[in-house]
Amino acid sequence: MRPQGTLAHGHPGEVGGHEVVSATRHATLVGDAYPGYVFSDAPRNVYWEMTLACDLACKHCRADAIKRRDPMELEGEGARAMIRDIKAMGSMLILTGGDPIRRPDLFELVAYAREIGVPVSITPSTTPTLTREVVERFRTLGVAAMGISVDGPKAEVHDAFRGVPGTFAHSMRALALAREVRIPVQVNTTVTRETLPHLEALYGLLEKNAPPVRRWSLFLLVPVGRGARLGALTAEEVETLFGWVYEAGREAPFHMATVEAPHYRRHWIQRKLAEGMPRGALERAAKQMGFGMRDGNGVIFVSHRGDVYPAGFLPAPLLGNVRQRPLSEIYRRAPALHQLRNMDALHGKCGACEFRWACGGSRSRAYAATGDFMAAEPTCIYQPLARQATA
Ligand code: SF4
Repeated sequence: MRPQGTLAHGHPGEVGGHEVVSATRHATLVGDAYPGYVFSDAPRNVYWEMTLACDLACKHCRADAIKRRDPMELEGEGARAMIRDIKAMGSMLILTGGDPIRRPDLFELVAYAREIGVPVSITPSTTPTLTREVVERFRTLGVAAMGISVDGPKAEVHDAFRGVPGTFAHSMRALALAREVRIPVQVNTTVTRETLPHLEALYGLLEKNAPPVRRWSLFLLVPVGRGARLGALTAEEVETLFGWVYEAGREAPFHMATVEAPHYRRHWIQRKLAEGMPRGALERAAKQMGFGMRDGNGVIFVSHRGDVYPAGFLPAPLLGNVRQRPLSEIYRRAPALHQLRNMDALHGKCGACEFRWACGGSRSRAYAATGDFMAAEPTCIYQPLARQATA
């Protein structure tokens, strides 16, 4: 079964879309040439898809969000027990959907999480239900950041991409509200053939909106759900995009990040080495940037019914259900997660790559392309040195 819901409304990214300075807590540095962190004890970020219900029907929705709530949604004591477990693990909770605002108990659960000291971020859908009162409430409750989707610099692009007229205006209103209420925003953009030509103009728009924009996450489409019908980038296009992100990121008044694109780390390392960055500085950066963090390693996903998967875009295998077993236990013991954290066991060129512990490729995209979550990342141009030597 495929996990339901959509992070694509505001996917906070493979590193949660939030600063990863503390990403290495409880994590071990592994690998020699370019090490990365293994999060075997606790995830840095728990993504909880609270509901499938959403008034939008975006073209790229990972899970075909629906209009009505599922009566089987995880709620009440089951939801609170999971939040306590997240507290014990020291992870961040990221609320996604569907549209979390469709949950009548949203504020109650956020308040509970905050009371016991769990950091919370939220990715609401940009619909008329995202009112000033709602945003103010987020602020009062101490929500760390709000994820807002903006896929193009103007309505024609954004609304056409979403397939829902009027959403661009709602996203702009959400940015304005966030500025007034002073809540940090992470803008999420899905990068496909359709949106790629508009990124530069979108950068210009976001530049004028910083603050509240603190982070811009460029999510490289993983072709699952409705997104399977959209145009994913080729490996060459991805590399060109990385070059642009690297350059734009030097000047940007917000942090720029890529999502479901761990091979940006390889690009980044190559650029830094070419610029003469010493090894020691690289290692410090690895800590700060959470190298190694990826699906099932530092990241875990809980569906609206409490089913646990390695990540929102990695719909297999089903690891368990938090109603039957604590999330912490599933995270620490599931054999598939142990496999996903072992970069020496990767197949194809990723397994032979000297960047595998820092990067490791998108396990979601590998799975979407081949049905094997340990397969090589299909959109990486890099030829590992071991391969080059035998070629
Ligand atoms: S070959 Fe795989 S591990 Fe190496 S840089 Fe590319 S995606 Fe990363």
